[in-house]
Amino acid sequence: MIPQGIPDMIPPGSTIGMLGGGQLGRMSALAAARLGYKTHVFTPEPHGPCAQACAAETVADWDDEEALAAFADSVDVITLEFENVPAPALELLSALKPTRPGSRVLAITQDRVAEKSFANQLGIGTAPWRLADDAAGIADAVRALGPSIAKTRRFGYDGKGQAVIADPDRADTAFAAIGHAPAIVEGRVDFTHEISVVLARGLDGQIAAYPAVENHHTGGILSSTIAPARVPAPVAAEADRIARRLADALDYVGVLGVELFVTRDGAVLMNEMAPRPHNSGHWTIDACPVSQFEQQVRAICGLPLGPTERFADAEMENLIGDQVDRWPTLIADPGARLHLYGKLETRPGRKMGHVTRLLARSGQQV
Ligand code: AMP
Repeated sequence: MIPQGIPDMIPPGSTIGMLGGGQLGRMSALAAARLGYKTHVFTPEPHGPCAQACAAETVADWDDEEALAAFADSVDVITLEFENVPAPALELLSALKPTRPGSRVLAITQDRVAEKSFANQLGIGTAPWRLADDAAGIADAVRALGPSIAKTRRFGYDGKGQAVIADPDRADTAFAAIGHAPAIVEGRVDFTHEISVVLARGLDGQIAAYPAVENHHTGGILSSTIAPARVPAPVAAEADRIARRLADALDYVGVLGVELFVTRDGAVLMNEMAPRPHNSGHWTIDACPVSQFEQQVRAICGLPLGPTERFADAEMENLIGDQVDRWPTLIADPGARLHLYGKLETRPGRKMGHVTRLLARSGQQV
């Protein structure tokens, strides 16, 4: 049963440590259980979506060194579903147990400036950008770049910590809107599509990539994903090439989500990277033989990666806030694969679940 010749393999029966307690951890834990692994979650918030699907839960803060050490002691490998795990916690953990992806990757992906610099150094295009530490810096950047988006360097997600700005005289307002935090100012990209590539990279450097998919946002939050993206083949191939190049250069182990813009003239620019399974990869649970979550388990445990071919095209819709109240209709719909995250409280903007519909290649529902 155990594949021969794979060094550093962590076999089924072992325990995976999961940092972060949300739905990505939950779906990873479900995939891990299917392969005979146990999951132990470390999270500051009790009874979350992940803990409900785990064998063990540690509820503690990221600066609780004793709890972190005891957690590391109880697991065989550590991964994450929350990319903003503080660096000291990661350093402590990675000294004790293999932590995949590791602190170097997180240092890059936690900081939009480090992330964009990393891509640009590899020759990968991004929106034009400038650093800005104050309102005057934002005003200068907008003068240079034209209509822009000011974003906090750190801790942004789902469009939070962002301010659209076209007039340099409005820099004070934009700086206040992002909480006076150190910022990156990005020129606004005139894109035709937002796409993403989700891939897994194994301990041996092997890569399994899903096709580029198309993403639609409402209020900065992903609302739906269409798989595959409706873009010309060379655009999809370029997105795939960029994602592989980033994963290789990071010496990445695990699942990586790469968000990209397709510009009006067909150029493909990196927007950002997510060092974990990605919302735009949820369709793989229902449409592929091996989901992004199983790939995560395989990659971090040193197992061979699985195939990424799809049985069908797919459309995934997030159930955000009270959209989850549609569940009785969705569960009764034979064409809908419903996933609910077990969140105890519905809040506006909160991802409560998702629904995937499989489509034949002709676009017919199957
Ligand atoms: P982000 O958190 O960086 O992924 O940004 C959230 C959303 O804002 C993206 O999915 C885009 O729809 C939009 N956005 C972010 N940056 C840019 C940009 N430089 N140009 C145009 N739209 C952007």
